[in-house]
Amino acid sequence: MRRFLVLILIGSLASCGGKPASDQMAAAKVTRVYCGRLIDGLADKTRNGVTVSIVNGRIRAVSEDESAEDASIDLSEYTCLPGLIDTHTHVVEAAGDTADLSIFYTRPLEDEQEIARINAATTLGVGFTTVRNVGAYNGWAGRVLRDRINSGEIPGPRMQVAGFYLTIPAGGGDLVIPGYDEKDIPPRVRMGVSRGPDEFRRNAQAAVDGGADVLKVIASGAVLAFGGVPGAPEMTEDEIRAVAEVAHAAGIKLTAHAHGAQSIKDAILAGADSIEHASLADDEAIALAVQNDVAFSMDIYNGTHIATIGREQNWPEEFLRKNDETTEAQRQVFTKAHAAGVPIIFGTDAAVYPHGDNAKMFPIMVERGMTPMEAIKAATSVAARYIGWAGDVGAIEPGRYGDMVAVKGDPLADIGILQHVDVVIKGGQRYK
Ligand SMILES: [Zn+2]
Repeated sequence: MRRFLVLILIGSLASCGGKPASDQMAAAKVTRVYCGRLIDGLADKTRNGVTVSIVNGRIRAVSEDESAEDASIDLSEYTCLPGLIDTHTHVVEAAGDTADLSIFYTRPLEDEQEIARINAATTLGVGFTTVRNVGAYNGWAGRVLRDRINSGEIPGPRMQVAGFYLTIPAGGGDLVIPGYDEKDIPPRVRMGVSRGPDEFRRNAQAAVDGGADVLKVIASGAVLAFGGVPGAPEMTEDEIRAVAEVAHAAGIKLTAHAHGAQSIKDAILAGADSIEHASLADDEAIALAVQNDVAFSMDIYNGTHIATIGREQNWPEEFLRKNDETTEAQRQVFTKAHAAGVPIIFGTDAAVYPHGDNAKMFPIMVERGMTPMEAIKAATSVAARYIGWAGDVGAIEPGRYGDMVAVKGDPLADIGILQHVDVVIKGGQRYK
């Protein structure tokens, strides 16, 4: 990959008198990207012939007054968009791990980090420059990955990590598996298992103290877990509230895994900022989400993946049945929730299906009622707002990171082309 970075020296400025000359002589990294067409993630209209100037990783200017010849990256033939955001991924886990969850008891952590390294590169390569890693069975594997990316050791998206799942004993995020003795389970996969508001509060604080960027509760039963019913509440409203209070005191968001209507309502009333799956939301839950400005992160593609691949690979029959019970119901709720004004943020549950396939969800979002522009905003500016990073990512405007993708053709005419991102730029550096 060739990088066309123009290095310029910022000369000593008379107005900065008093500082040592060496401070004033710092080299600024400048990248000028010329886009044939630009979707900035905020406006409803596209613009043509736009130059995005990125200085030291952040966007400095967006201008229609410059020519392609002056650009360091010439994308005249492309449509540029903000780097995409997936608010629901599990980057440290491999697709298919679900077929036998006991792998998390035995797989060496080095092997897991190698899987994570590959997934991170894949995810960035398909255009997702920011992801929220909303939990890992090995509590802090996501944090290790995040820190490796941030230090520049390996390529990958910007990451928010949730650390371990906050879940009740034998709940949807607990790794007790039928046929295994509890004493044989490594404690690292059960760090967030709690019961009662006090224990949840303590473990939520431990997650914050350990470096979580977001907290995650498993409010109701999971599809890909043993026992329990996907819709049935697991955590009480008081338990969720205890976690929400810890998250908000730390200035971070709480996201709640909740399929069932009751759990969705409990989580909203308890202070969750977003609901994952939201498969079986009823009218009351939808109204409550609108009223409280709570976003739904709905993984409406992966039901198709589970139904086909899960059967081919002989995933547990219980998982397949629960998936069948939630897929079409969830898609209908998606249409209703969007029409009612619930903020929808792009979240795929990647790891359930292969990392890199994230953008396969866009066409279903459009089939189920979004305009292509709404689907793009769900994966850019709207996602950024609801994960608390609106100042940093999710739009091509001055101040935010220079994270961009480009595709040949017009995604507003065919949203499916977002599955084939040609160019990826993160912080002004061309990755692909
Ligand atoms: Zn998930």
